[in-house]
Amino acid sequence: MAEETQGTMQKAPQTDAKPKASENNNNRRPNNPNRKPNPNRNGKPGEKPVGNKPSGNKPSGGNRNKNRNNRYKRQPTPVDENLKTFVGKNQDAHKQRLNPHYKLDLGSKAKIRVTPLGGLGEIGGNIMVFETEKEAILVDVGMSFPDETMHGVDILIPDFSYLREIKDKIVGIVITHAHEDHIGAMPYLYKEMQFPIYGTPLPLAMIGNKFDEHHIKEHRKYFNPIVKREIVKIGNDFEVEWMHMTHSILDSSSVAITTEAGTVIHTGDFKIDYTPVDGYTADLHRLAYYGEKGVLCLLSDSTNSHNPTPTGSELSVAPALDRIFAKAEGRVLLSTFSSNIHRVQQAIQYGIKYGRKVCVIGRSMERNIEIAMQYDYVRFNKNIFIDADEVSRLNDKEVLIVTTGSQGEANSALFRMSIGEHRHVKIKPTDLIVLSSRAIPGNEGSISGMLNHLQRAGASVAMSKDIHVSGHASMEEQKLMLRLVNPKFFLPIHGEYNHVMKHRETGMMCGVPERNILLMTDGEQIEIAPKYMRKVKTVKTGKTYIDNQNNHQIEDDIVLDRQKLATDGVVMMVVEVSEQNSKMLDKPKVTTFGIVPDKQDKAFAKEMEDVVEIYLTNIKPGLIENSRALENDIRQVVRKHIYRKMKKYPLIVPHVLVH
Ligand SMILES: [Zn+2]
Repeated sequence: MAEETQGTMQKAPQTDAKPKASENNNNRRPNNPNRKPNPNRNGKPGEKPVGNKPSGNKPSGGNRNKNRNNRYKRQPTPVDENLKTFVGKNQDAHKQRLNPHYKLDLGSKAKIRVTPLGGLGEIGGNIMVFETEKEAILVDVGMSFPDETMHGVDILIPDFSYLREIKDKIVGIVITHAHEDHIGAMPYLYKEMQFPIYGTPLPLAMIGNKFDEHHIKEHRKYFNPIVKREIVKIGNDFEVEWMHMTHSILDSSSVAITTEAGTVIHTGDFKIDYTPVDGYTADLHRLAYYGEKGVLCLLSDSTNSHNPTPTGSELSVAPALDRIFAKAEGRVLLSTFSSNIHRVQQAIQYGIKYGRKVCVIGRSMERNIEIAMQYDYVRFNKNIFIDADEVSRLNDKEVLIVTTGSQGEANSALFRMSIGEHRHVKIKPTDLIVLSSRAIPGNEGSISGMLNHLQRAGASVAMSKDIHVSGHASMEEQKLMLRLVNPKFFLPIHGEYNHVMKHRETGMMCGVPERNILLMTDGEQIEIAPKYMRKVKTVKTGKTYIDNQNNHQIEDDIVLDRQKLATDGVVMMVVEVSEQNSKMLDKPKVTTFGIVPDKQDKAFAKEMEDVVEIYLTNIKPGLIENSRALENDIRQVVRKHIYRKMKKYPLIVPHVLVH
């Protein structure tokens, strides 16, 4: 608007009616020696003053003054040179503020090495090694879950080979939060080697519980509880600060690890919850503090990096819970992840609001609520709780059952209730089952199976989206993290390849150059110095299989055998061979499982007899004395034959007896 006003006030006559193209910035310059010269006169093309449209010598349409010599020509805005220098100064300030380069000691020769031993290229099993020349710390020691091909395996823990190698360098273990995928492998590590453990109270309490269960109570002596915002020196080389983070478990942290090379921020798992249930918001101020000081590298949670919608607050499930409890006519059975204490807390609050007593069923749920109450993370009047055997004494409308089994796990309380096998609780048609969780990928089938059972028993099931919210940062919160921390280098962590890949894109959007971002996989060692980041080597990683019944390791070959048994079956055969003429003394005894139907057993045995007979007629002289070699050979010929005929590789177990 100001521009137009100025234009209409212009009175000076136009002197140069036919300007050359090159002069079109000046062609309407009034012939007035008192006016300031147009600083853009000699400017480059494109630097025209705003609003100075090349309108040739046509009269300006908006000019009411019809006098040809007084046509409208816009007077260029004078530029205040002093003001302009401040634009440059502000640009410099932005550069200083945004470019982490300026905040790092580029002359420093110090470096730090980062090696994920789990948690990359997979979900769970998180364990990260940070190493200086002389010392190392670990961040989290988690477990993960097997897939359906790992028969009889309950959990997976990371391969500790590399830790054995650098055992003498390790000065401590830093714990970010108490989820199983961050602490679940601790007892297995501690049975073998021990180091000081640093963490906030809840994760330590949960690790302590594991130590007790594994009969290594004495290792609680390695606990070093810390206070958030207080910097802890670990060994000689590491200074670590825990910064409060919001996540789907209480008392979570990001950690700032400072070594001579600079500060590395490891976010742990996080989301940015502006209205957390306990009021303890993420410590954005400390993140910003480090960002301001200069951060060498950020390692940030990639779990939800595909999600463009910001992750909701834990409090966002409250209205749905309220609605559910307000309407429920019979018992309410709510199931969620037992570690999500704030979810459980909210459910209990609404239960109480609508006059219900609370019965907690399921070992992990009972234990987690107990720990949260013991350590004052949540407070409930003890008289709101009832035991499972008291449920039947109350009116259905007075009962809230909080239980495990939201993933349809076959040994969980809710699953047993669904098939009528729970000691105290049988599902009734008036029951309302609330699944306040999402399906962990891979569990959809078992959840669906449990839903079938529950609905067959007549119960209603509520599992809408608004009764669950994720604990992981979506793209927008990942951006906030990147902008607050403003790192020079960026390592997206926690997630499969496609998650970290997407997180890289977000990192680039937030100002980290592509060359400063590396996508790691388990076992890759990255060296970071103020001047560079590069992959230096690969260390051994993998998974160790654990049987939860006895907490013992299952050797790899056992799992491989089980896989073969499950998919291809087994052939056992006993072959008696004459020492004199290398001929079979009798028909071989052949037993099979999972290969041919019973009615074809005999035909199959005959086939095996023929295969062995042909083999024996061509046997090399002298081999007959070596029954081990004979067995190997027979295994080979039988394997070839079966594969040719059936395209299967069963387990083949030959026994050769030579008389
Ligand atoms: Zn977590």
